[in-house]
Amino acid sequence: MADSKRGRDIVKQAKAEVEPLTLEQVDEMIRRREPMTLVDVREGDEWRAGHLPGAIHIPRGYFELQVDEKLPDKDAPIVLYCAGGNRSAMSAKTLKELGYTDVRHMIRGFSGWRDGGFEVVQPKNWTPEQRERYSRHFVLPEVGEAGQRKISEGKVLVVGAGGLGAPAIYFLGAAGVGKLGIVDFDTVDISNLQRQVIHSTSRVGMNKAESARQAIDDLNPDVDVQIWKERLTPDNVDGILAQFDMVIDATDNFSTRYLINEAAVKQGKPYIYGSIFRFEGYASTFWPAAGGPCYRCMHPEAPPDELAPT
Ligand SMILES: [Zn+2]
Repeated sequence: MADSKRGRDIVKQAKAEVEPLTLEQVDEMIRRREPMTLVDVREGDEWRAGHLPGAIHIPRGYFELQVDEKLPDKDAPIVLYCAGGNRSAMSAKTLKELGYTDVRHMIRGFSGWRDGGFEVVQPKNWTPEQRERYSRHFVLPEVGEAGQRKISEGKVLVVGAGGLGAPAIYFLGAAGVGKLGIVDFDTVDISNLQRQVIHSTSRVGMNKAESARQAIDDLNPDVDVQIWKERLTPDNVDGILAQFDMVIDATDNFSTRYLINEAAVKQGKPYIYGSIFRFEGYASTFWPAAGGPCYRCMHPEAPPDELAPT
């Protein structure tokens, strides 16, 4: 019995064989968007209480059953973590035995990570209906649950529910944006319907913001729609924009465009602008708070509104 191993010896040996990464190194890799798959090997209830940003979850108990599907590339860089560094070392050992070539683990684990004040993602508890509704987003690696969570918590203001606003509002609503603001003083005309798909024949004569709200309420009950059936003015623009994370300018006149741009610059929020003329279109995002110019930097002078082609 002299050379019989104890459980702890196996853990110790695994730890000695796997390249360790510090919390700071992993944080840096996440920030730099270094290509790697970050794998959380803890149990489901630990994962649901919070995890690292961008991590995928393969509980150690299901490791061998799920690795082929979730980690298909045996030469891709993989970083494992658990609560304190033991289970991740053991899982790394398993991966190495399975032929994975680039496996490291984070020492001190999630406990160290959380106590160190690094970014923690709280998984959202989706309802079964939401899981169905956003299932096509969940399967897109570029969106996934983390992306849907961002969309679902996003607050977007759309000024104008006409040719540009209609598709923008419709797709934001379909995607499940958390809060959607719509500003439009105009009413639905039958000549709008050939392109402003959010409105309908039964709503001709109705205010456009109201008509758009009815369409979104019917499309996706997750979205909190707030409407303003009035013109955007220097008096109301700041108060309205303050309730949102960003603004989409879907108007067709220069004076409103400068008004929105100015408010967005003042509040440090992204200003997304689009414009169309026949078969030509422009779309751009201005966000001086994150670097770069604002709309007025590009067009210092506002031309008179009469010059805006409709
Ligand atoms: Zn500027």
